[in-house]
Amino acid sequence: MKVPIVANILKANDSIAQQNHEALRAKKIFAVNIMSSPGAGKTTLIERTINTLKGELKIGVIEGDIQSTHDSEIIAKTGAQVVQINTGGACHLDANMVSKAIEQLDLSSIDILLIENVGNLVCPSNFWLGEDKKVVLTSVPEGDDKPLKYPSIFLVSDAVIINKIDLLPYMTYDIDKVRQECLRIKPEIKIFQLSSKTGERFDEWIEWLKELRKEKLQG
Ligand code: MG
Ligand code: ZN
Repeated sequence: MKVPIVANILKANDSIAQQNHEALRAKKIFAVNIMSSPGAGKTTLIERTINTLKGELKIGVIEGDIQSTHDSEIIAKTGAQVVQINTGGACHLDANMVSKAIEQLDLSSIDILLIENVGNLVCPSNFWLGEDKKVVLTSVPEGDDKPLKYPSIFLVSDAVIINKIDLLPYMTYDIDKVRQECLRIKPEIKIFQLSSKTGERFDEWIEWLKELRKEKLQG
C-alpha cells in the first residue's frame, strides 16, 4: 500500500503546483526554486541578486525554513517583499505551502520570485512548487563530492551554482571534477561558479536570470 499513497501525495502536490504556476504566469512572474544543503549560501545569493537588480527588476522572496525567521529578516532589510514559511519540522517545501505564501504577496509588483527551499539535498528534488526553473547550489567548503552523492537533485535542476569560489585557495576542492560530474548527470545543465560574498562572476548568474525571464515573457 505504501507506493500508491506516496504517488497520490505527489500527484496532489503537482496539481497545486500547476495552480501556482498559472497564478504566477498570469502576473508575468518568472519563478526560481533555489535548493541546497544548509549553509551553502542561498540567502546570501538571494540578497546579492536583489541588490544587483535594484532599480531594474523587482524581486519577491519566499523563505522556507524549518523554524526561524533569521533569513527572512536579512531579506526584509533589502526592501524586497518577503514571506516566511515555517514548515514546522518538514524538511522541504511543498506546493501547498507555497500557494499560501503566494496569497501573502503583492504579485503585481514582482518581476522575479525567488523561493529559498529548506536546506536539504534530498527530498526538495521531488516537489514541484510551480516554479519555472530549479537551481541547486553547492559550495566549496562542503567538499567536491556532492553531485556524486546526491545526483537526483542535480538531475532535476536547470542550473547548478558552485558558490564561495573565493575560498578555493584555502580548500582542497577539485572544481573541474564537480563540473564533469554535474555534466555526466545532466549534460544540458548550466553551471555557474561564483562568489555571492565578493560578487566574483556574479554577473553571469544575473544575465541568465534576465535572459530566461525574457524568454518566458515572450513565450
Ligand atoms: Mg538561508
Ligand atoms: Zn523533506
